[in-house]
This record gives sequence, C-alpha cells and structure tokens, in this order.
Amino acid sequence: MSFASFAELALSPRLQQTLRELGYAQPTPIQASAIPTILAGCDLLAGAQTGTGKTAAFVLPLLERLMQHSQDERPRPIRALVLVPTRELAVQVHESVLRYGKETGLTCALVYGGVSIAAQVEALRAGVDILVATPGRLLDHLRQGALSLAQLRHLVFDEADRMLDMGFMDEIKALLKQIPAERQTLLFSATCDDNLFALSRVLLRDPVLVEVATRNTTAAEIEQRVYAVDGDRKQALIEHLLKVKGYAPALIFSRTRQGADQLAQRLGKAGINALAFHGDLSQGAREKVLLEFRAGTLQVLVATDVAARGLDILDLNYVINLEFPHQPEDYVHRIGRTGRAGNKGLAITLFSPEDAPQLEKVEAVLDTRLPQQWFPGFEPDLTRFEPEPRRSGKAAQKQRARKQALGGKSGKVR
Ligand code: AMP
Repeated sequence: MSFASFAELALSPRLQQTLRELGYAQPTPIQASAIPTILAGCDLLAGAQTGTGKTAAFVLPLLERLMQHSQDERPRPIRALVLVPTRELAVQVHESVLRYGKETGLTCALVYGGVSIAAQVEALRAGVDILVATPGRLLDHLRQGALSLAQLRHLVFDEADRMLDMGFMDEIKALLKQIPAERQTLLFSATCDDNLFALSRVLLRDPVLVEVATRNTTAAEIEQRVYAVDGDRKQALIEHLLKVKGYAPALIFSRTRQGADQLAQRLGKAGINALAFHGDLSQGAREKVLLEFRAGTLQVLVATDVAARGLDILDLNYVINLEFPHQPEDYVHRIGRTGRAGNKGLAITLFSPEDAPQLEKVEAVLDTRLPQQWFPGFEPDLTRFEPEPRRSGKAAQKQRARKQALGGKSGKVR
C-alpha cells in the first residue's frame, strides 16, 4: 500500500506541521511505500539511493513510533539505532533527525570515529531515544560500557551495501550479539548483490520489499555523458567544463587522493575556488569544507569515493568523474549525488583508453551501454585507443567494435 499525500499517512499533527514548514508537499515514492510499512511494525528491505528522500522515509515513522510509546525511565534508554558507514552520513542523518523531530521532544545522539570519545560519552549520559552511529566507534562505546542497547526496539542499516563494501561485517556481527532479537529491523541500500541478500536473511524477519528504482540503476533525472579524451588532457577538459561551460558548483570524483589534490591545485591556479576532500583531512577540516561548499563560497569539491559517501548537498547539478571508479557500484553512488528529489542532474565521466575495463564493468552493472562522445577541442588521439593484445573473447570484440566506431566520422565514439 502506498499513499500520495502526507495527510493520508498516519503521522501525528506535530510531524505534519514540521513537514509543512519544510515545504514538503508530498511524500517521495520511497516515503509513500516505506512509512506505512514501518508504522505497521514490519521489517523492511528497501532499495533506494541517496536523493530519493530515504532518510525521511525511516526517520519520520521512527519518530512517530517512539512518540506513541513514551518512555518514563531516566536516563532514557536507546530505543532506536541507525547504523551508517561513514562519519559524514552519520552527521547528515543526525541533522535530519533533529530537523524532522524538532517538535517531538525526542533526543538523538551521534557516535562516530575520528573525534574525542569523551564528549560523545557525556552526550549519552543524559539518555537518548535515537542513536546514530558508525559500527566501529559504537563497538568501542559498548566495550567501555558507555552505553547499552538492551532496550533497543528499532534497528536501521542505512547504506548497508556500503557498510559491507567497507568491511564492517565483523563489527555488525559483534553488535548483533548485544541487540535484542525482538526488534524491528530496516535495511536501506542503493545496490543489491548476493552479499546484501545474505545479510538481509540474517537480519530481517519476513521483510516487506520496497524498491523505488530498479536494482542497480541510476535515477532517471540524471543525464549521463561519457567524454572520450586523452588521459593527459582530462584536467584541461575539466577546467574548460567549469570555466567555459559553467558546470559549477560541481562535485568531482577522483579515484585517488593524489589525483584529487592535483586537480584541486590546478583548478585553484586557474582561478576556480576548489578544494580536495579525502581521508587525509581531519574531521574538523572536512566539516569546514562541507560548510563552505553548502554555502556556495566553494565552487568545486574534488572528492574520493569513501570521503564522498552519503554527502547530502542540495541543488547539486553537476557531478564530474575524472575517471570511472574501481568498484562499478560506486558509479551509481557518485552520480546519485545529483538529480536529487526530482531536480535534473548532469553526470559527466571522462574516459581514456586505460579506463576501458572499468567502463565495461559499469555497463555490466547498469546493464546498459554508456555511449561515448568527444568534446569539441578535446578530441582524443585515436591511435591511443588501440585494443590491448591481452584481451580475448567478448572484451576484445567489444574493443574492436569500439575502435571501428572511433574511425567513423561522427562525433560519437560508438
Ligand atoms: P535523502 O535521499 O534522504 O538524502 O534526501 C534527499 C533530499 O530530499 C534531502 O535534502 C531532503 O531534505 C529532501 N526531501 C526528502 N523528502 C522530501 C519530500 N517529501 N519533499 C521534498 N524534499 C524532500
């Protein structure tokens, strides 16, 4: 069952009022399906990318259920836990809980690595209803006896696929031992594979399945372009896209920290306000960079995949990939930063011959071809787009077809 308006959902007047103030006219598809399911107490397996409104899809019904079952015990026991893969996502989910729950009187705390544990312990001492945490730091707190999950009723995994990619399985198993079996579990993931289904079988009981976009596909509002360009001209093309085409503010992805630093420096020299965003930055520096980017004083963020995971940046129209990511699923995550909540987005990926294996993997995951084109003035040197002798079978056939197409007259590579 799903509903077309917030008024039809059984959310209390306080939450409805907050949604009106936020200007949310109607639920997004994931909200329309997930909110009634969660309110009914069912477990949920939801396939939804960032940008679909998935955070409100679980935060709103959780707030509602926690309000309905008021808690007189002092200090308040943690009743809902949201597990997230990264610090940035933890901060964003926490902000969302505060935003949506401002009239509810419920409290929320945040626990993640890289910052002082003492301040987090202090925040927990007063008692909280909802805890947002990354798995590693949460385990630290549990081992130190700083918190208990013995009264947990609701467990949410946000971006569960990413948690598995980042190798959190052991932490998840250790955490489950400290969480009551009698609970509601909600699992959100942008992509689904065998590992994820295996995890869902361990975690969920008779889950309701909700999927808003077809599995492993990209949101329809995003236009994807792949520009074939020589590797040594990629930075120049990005500079051109930003300065001449005006594709800014933009989030640019680099596979490596070094690549992110180099590009940010080059853009800086070209008079573009750009900063690198990766794991070498301290938590404080990351938060400052994000604030500047959100405020619009920073035009370009050049990020690595891990650092950029779960960034919630509004009104982002442009995502540019310096190259395809190592993990094809990351392509879906990267371009999901744009085209949010119905806005149009443009995702540009620069492709040079050495990226061919990554392109094929991405096409396999998306089950679609990503046609390449040339950008006028940055046409590739066709002699470099040679098939590699190692390639055989299907890959070689594809590569030969690509080369044939490159010899054609049209601007499209294939
Ligand atoms: P999320 O997928 O949770 O990262 O949300 C993406 C963005 O959509 C967030 O900035 C939300 O504030 C916004 N949003 C969520 N739900 C709605 C809605 N029903 N109407 C308009 N905007 C929304």
